[in-house]
Amino acid sequence: MIPPAFEYMRPNTIPEAIALLQQHGEDAKILSGGQSLIPMIARPAYLVDINRISGLSYIKEERGFLRIGGLTREAELESSPLVRLKYPILLDTAHVIADPQVRNLATVAGNLAHGDPANDHPATMIALGAQVVATGSAGERIIPIEEFFLSLFSTALQPGEILTEIRVPVPTVKSGGAYFKLERKVGDFATAAVAAQVTLDASGAVQKVGIALTNVGPTPIKAKKAEDFLRGKKLDEATVRQAGQLAGDEAQPSSDLRGPAEYKKGLVKELAKRALSRAAERAGR
Ligand SMILES: Cc1cc2nc3c(=O)[nH]c(=O)nc-3n(C[C@H](O)[C@H](O)[C@H](O)COP(=O)(O)OP(=O)(O)OC[C@H]3O[C@@H](n4cnc5c(N)ncnc54)[C@H](O)[C@@H]3O)c2cc1C
Repeated sequence: MIPPAFEYMRPNTIPEAIALLQQHGEDAKILSGGQSLIPMIARPAYLVDINRISGLSYIKEERGFLRIGGLTREAELESSPLVRLKYPILLDTAHVIADPQVRNLATVAGNLAHGDPANDHPATMIALGAQVVATGSAGERIIPIEEFFLSLFSTALQPGEILTEIRVPVPTVKSGGAYFKLERKVGDFATAAVAAQVTLDASGAVQKVGIALTNVGPTPIKAKKAEDFLRGKKLDEATVRQAGQLAGDEAQPSSDLRGPAEYKKGLVKELAKRALSRAAERAGR
């Protein structure tokens, strides 16, 4: 395929990038890993490549949050000892995204900013209660992840804003999370997937819970009914089964080449059970 002509720009700082985005308005797009943008057929007239901006690639805990920089690659999550030790749900998620070649370039921020309900990080970040930092000409804006995904391929980022950081609250003791995905073959987008994060109290009952679903609606779905049902309960088999049922009921899948809608709802039910059980097991360690 021969792409249409576009102008390529490579700013070295965030203010320079914002100025270019403002100058070219809706004709300009940010390029980070390029793993979603480049395969798209519709091309912007101006590509603002943010890869040369220094200081945007990091994974660190600071002031109560795990902070993931706007240019941090999926592969960096996978190789981070901190993520491996304290945020296994992020590792589960990064592992099932595409293949190692894609993960070497794809950024976590790009995965969210693309607004694709088939992408894996959105549900995980919702389950974790994350926030994103959007930086524009007026400064920084914090957006709770629950308010970030507006509709198919549409997010709360305004024109001229760059997603510069993702903030995940540092988990308290007795917290654990997991991400379970079914794909048709390794490297594929999810037929369905479920992210679950729980915090247990001293008695082992659920104090805090986040559950979110991938690729079963126009946006990632927060399974609020399942969450409400679980608060204050111990995660025994019957409770987990009922929560899975509620999560399946909250899915809004369409029938497509990955399967009929009813099959996907059943899949969510099963994956939610598995994600919750693994999350509880990790929280108990
Ligand atoms: C073969 C293949 C298989 C894949 N399989 C999966 C999968 O199983 N699961 C999955 O989750 N993903 C999958 N992906 C998508 C991949 O993870 C993408 O890399 C990711 O969605 C986008 O990240 P990126 O850094 O490549 O963004 P880009 O492609 O550079 O950008 C994507 C969009 O986000 C915008 N953007 C990028 N960065 C920022 C930023 N910092 N601030 C504001 N806007 C920004 C761009 O303007 C563009 O609109 C796959 C991709 C490929 C090529």
